[in-house]
Amino acid sequence: MSSRPVPKCNLRTLILLFSLLASFVTLFNDLYATYRIQREALVRNSLEANRAYAAKVALSIGQNLGADLDRLNYSAKVLGQQFSSETIRSEEVRRLIEQDQSFNTTVVANAQGEVLAAFPKLLNVKGQTIRFKEALTRRQGMISPAFNSLAGNLIVFISQPIWGPGGEYLGLVGGTIYLREANALSEVASRHFQWDNSQVYLVDDKRHLLFHPDASRIGEVVGANPAIDALLRGESSAAHIVDSKGVEMLAGYAAVPKSGWGVVSQQPMSVPAAALRELMYQVVLRVIPMSLVGIFLLWWAAACISQPLKRLADLAENMDNIQDIRKVRAWYFEAWRIRRAMIMGRLLTQDRIGKLNHQALSDPLTGLANRRVLEDCLRDWELLDKSFAVISMDIDHFKRVNDEFGHDAGDKVLQAFASLLRQNCRDHDVPCRVGGEEFILLLPSATLAEATEVAERIRRSMAETVFPPAGHVTLSLGVSCWVPNQQDVHATLKEADELLYRAKQSGRNRVMCQGTAASATTS
Ligand code: GH3
Ligand code: MG
Ligand code: MG
Repeated sequence: MSSRPVPKCNLRTLILLFSLLASFVTLFNDLYATYRIQREALVRNSLEANRAYAAKVALSIGQNLGADLDRLNYSAKVLGQQFSSETIRSEEVRRLIEQDQSFNTTVVANAQGEVLAAFPKLLNVKGQTIRFKEALTRRQGMISPAFNSLAGNLIVFISQPIWGPGGEYLGLVGGTIYLREANALSEVASRHFQWDNSQVYLVDDKRHLLFHPDASRIGEVVGANPAIDALLRGESSAAHIVDSKGVEMLAGYAAVPKSGWGVVSQQPMSVPAAALRELMYQVVLRVIPMSLVGIFLLWWAAACISQPLKRLADLAENMDNIQDIRKVRAWYFEAWRIRRAMIMGRLLTQDRIGKLNHQALSDPLTGLANRRVLEDCLRDWELLDKSFAVISMDIDHFKRVNDEFGHDAGDKVLQAFASLLRQNCRDHDVPCRVGGEEFILLLPSATLAEATEVAERIRRSMAETVFPPAGHVTLSLGVSCWVPNQQDVHATLKEADELLYRAKQSGRNRVMCQGTAASATTS
């Protein structure tokens, strides 16, 4: 026998486990693929929305700045004609403010940068020198980066040079935009955009925040930020970035024409991530009911598949009942083959055991039961208190038959006697060959008289039969009887042998029975 431990896992559990494992792997893979695809779609949509909006805002701001430069250019031409007129200068700065709401303040300065006129007048900067010197040196329409004005405001300064009638440089006319107050830039940047925590901000070419939804950050210099780096390289696009505060952002960015500024429209990654979580939650909620149905189907299928094999395995431990094996519903090929093999094996074993039993319990020459059967019967009947009679028989002068006609002729006599014996006993009597030419007949429930009668019949048949080539052969018999609680069954057997011996002594071919000297003589 193998010393390996008995496996604890059965087929049904195995099928169920592997099916569930495969299902969970597939489900997880599906959910993960859904998650990835949805995530990419949400990110792509957000990037595209932000890119488009940044481009739109940048274009609007560029158009506003262009219009501002045009208006200033017109004023510069007016002032160039009559630069010395203080009235004209005052008039132009006032008109520029009042014409529309683009500028918070306006100034006219001479070629040295000294402020000649300003509006509103409360500014009190007249006579001071403008800070954005680059406008004086470059003498062209300019848009400044953010800086602190003479009046201490964070501003952007937009200016046009003033040229005299002879082409001489007279100074500049400029307008300021107060970045920390409501202004034309903030109005454009914050006009439409209220979308999923998205925010728009505006930076200049020195990384100053010109507009930011968090007003406290306006004027701040933005640190490392891939979107601003790309803007400063003149690129307009969209990217998944980590901003200067370390927050993951989906940013679209676009350069503002003419100014060197850039617009960034961005949405925290946490927004699509939250939408994705909600989406996946909904997907899982919808998947659960069918998954439960699937698990039930797996459980049922595992039971159906394992049932025939389990039943066959149970029956294999005790192959006695072949009918139960036949009844197993082997609905698939392998189970059917196993069932067939078991039935065939069982039939074969039955056949073998039958043959072996027969060989073990019978005498090969005559086919009668042997001494083992005799012993078993005696033991059983003694245990069951079942009375019986014994006829002990020995062929007379059998040695002579052998000597005269040969051993084979002797065998034939033995076989013929065996069949004679069978013919003369009842179905439930047990004829046995216990020695060379010695036989015993057990007669269950027979009385001594009945057994003596049977013995006499046998003796007579024997004596009357001709056994070619031996001719007539006779038989001596001893009969005794056992009744419960009297003596040992073997004593009864011994008694029958002794009676047989006495029959021999008395001249053979006779029956001697218990309690009598002799009941038959030679025929
Ligand atoms: P008795 O009347 O006293 O019984 O004389 P007997 O010759 O029958 O007695 P004995 O026991 O001396 O001889 C029995 C003979 O049976 C001896 C043996 O050769 C023969 N014998 C035993 N078994 C077989 C057998 O299987 N086949 C044959 N042919 N002869 C056998
Ligand atoms: Mg003998
Ligand atoms: Mg004999």
